[in-house]
Amino acid sequence: MSDPVLIAAAWPYANAEIHVGNLTGSYLPADIFARYHRLRGRQVLMVSGTDSHGTPITVRADAEKSSPLEVYQRFHATFLDLFQKLGLTYDLFTSTHTANHFNVSQKIFLALKQNGFLYPDRQLQWYSPSQKRFLPDRYVEGTCYICGYTNARSDQCDNCGNLLDPTLLIEPRSKIDGTKPELRETEHMFLDLGRLQPQVIDFLRLRESFWRPNVLRQSLGQIQAESLRGRAITRDLDWGIPVPLEGWTGKCLYVWFEAVIGYLSATIEWSEVNGQPDAWRTWWHDPNAKAYYFIGKDNIPFHAIIWPAELIGISTTFDELMGYKDAEPMVLPHDVPANEFMNLEGQKISGSRNWAVWGRDFLTRYDPDALRYYLTVNMPETRDSDWDWNDFLHHNNDELVATWGNLVNRVLSFAYKNFEGKVPEPGLLTDLDTELIKTIEDGFISVAQEMEAVRLRSALGEAMSLATEVNKYLEITAPWQAIKTDRQAAGRAIYTAIQAIDSLKILLAPFLPFTSERLHNFLGYDAPLFGTQSTEVRKDSVAEHSVLRYHPETATGRWEPGKIEPGHLLRVPAPLIRKLEPKIVEEERARLGSKPA
Ligand SMILES: [Zn+2]
Repeated sequence: MSDPVLIAAAWPYANAEIHVGNLTGSYLPADIFARYHRLRGRQVLMVSGTDSHGTPITVRADAEKSSPLEVYQRFHATFLDLFQKLGLTYDLFTSTHTANHFNVSQKIFLALKQNGFLYPDRQLQWYSPSQKRFLPDRYVEGTCYICGYTNARSDQCDNCGNLLDPTLLIEPRSKIDGTKPELRETEHMFLDLGRLQPQVIDFLRLRESFWRPNVLRQSLGQIQAESLRGRAITRDLDWGIPVPLEGWTGKCLYVWFEAVIGYLSATIEWSEVNGQPDAWRTWWHDPNAKAYYFIGKDNIPFHAIIWPAELIGISTTFDELMGYKDAEPMVLPHDVPANEFMNLEGQKISGSRNWAVWGRDFLTRYDPDALRYYLTVNMPETRDSDWDWNDFLHHNNDELVATWGNLVNRVLSFAYKNFEGKVPEPGLLTDLDTELIKTIEDGFISVAQEMEAVRLRSALGEAMSLATEVNKYLEITAPWQAIKTDRQAAGRAIYTAIQAIDSLKILLAPFLPFTSERLHNFLGYDAPLFGTQSTEVRKDSVAEHSVLRYHPETATGRWEPGKIEPGHLLRVPAPLIRKLEPKIVEEERARLGSKPA
């Protein structure tokens, strides 16, 4: 096996369903990247789970008169459903509400404490005199003191993206009853980011040459502008992971401190599930392992500063607490290819106004690859992008169907009808034929270059431009005409086009796995390109939780040109991709902003 690749996809937060902006921001790019590396034969592990703690969930549970557990489990179930339908192949998608995650998070906390990177301090915190309780994070809203946005959460502003000092919030109000809270003292544990700063800067400098500018701006740039200060990593809240210290009852670990630990705990759970409890160390200790974190731009500071700081701070102590004699330091993030945001028809996506395209709802009317295609060509890799229904229609019909689906269907139907359902005998290839085959073969290098650099839009564009080359080739060779006068020439062109299609099937497979799998079947292959997915319920001392698993064992796809032989039997072809009616544009626009069903 070659170098291990850890693919860490952002943890969806369990207080809303997932919309297209979330998908294109982090979950879909992670899956495309994972599928590509699996085709390369690398030791891939893609993990994530539901972020199930913190105040947005307790606030919602209060409003619904239900419990945080019910809220988290309800949304967790919708995530599992969507990810299966969209083919997001997590090796393990779990949750933070598990005994394993509690244990790993508490050990990280203790390792940081043992290494001197935690200190207790008293802090001013908003307190509700009417409710007689502290109001952490989302329980308080007000005006952002950086940009003036009037609906800022006390810990982070959704408008400017900055992390906020809650005590500086202008005109604070309680989320529970709208009353004005007052500042009172409370004791918390702080992560000593100031002491970790030199090592965090070294870590970032080593990655300066290849990280995206937006990520560097919010990490290295931010630290250079203002030194890191200690951050409270505990909260006055009981929904969460208890602080593992005597006398700290009623306080839990701050959700952002523990959610990022999920990448590690999910790897450990995956190892347990697979009956190889030490396997996680491959991705967390091997110096050749590369860890990629796929996240949205609102999460950059947590993944590019705080999580690396936690990993640096625990050093080998986490291993020691886990009982390993050969304790080793942790693998730090290699890349954090954070995406910008996707808007919708020119406006910011808003769940509360139902100004959103919801993943599961979309898939009741359209195919998963249509969504994957549009979200990739429109991926906000370098700037915000916009979901526009008319644009979606045209990308689907004029590119995906016209350039790729029709090409496949024309060639395979023609071969099936005119060459007894077999790949034709080509005879001697012409220069034009070998040139096309060579052009497509070179795609395995050019598309891979874009993939390795996490430029997924460009990688898909490159693959689609190769499909255009095949169309041009068929315009010149015109086998549909040639068959009337020169059966050999027609057979040669169809043979060549089938070779090209067989290769393009692989080049497009990370983006369009369902389509590629179907095409693979039409081409007469039996073993699938990719593995399978399943869910199962696991029970532990904290709660019951469902997990989504990917099983790679049956996968046979390889990142290499196809070598389909003359005489190879094809299966009955069918249209590969559905053409959409123009009327969907107005229908879909009419749904936006209306009350959810
Ligand atoms: Zn702001």
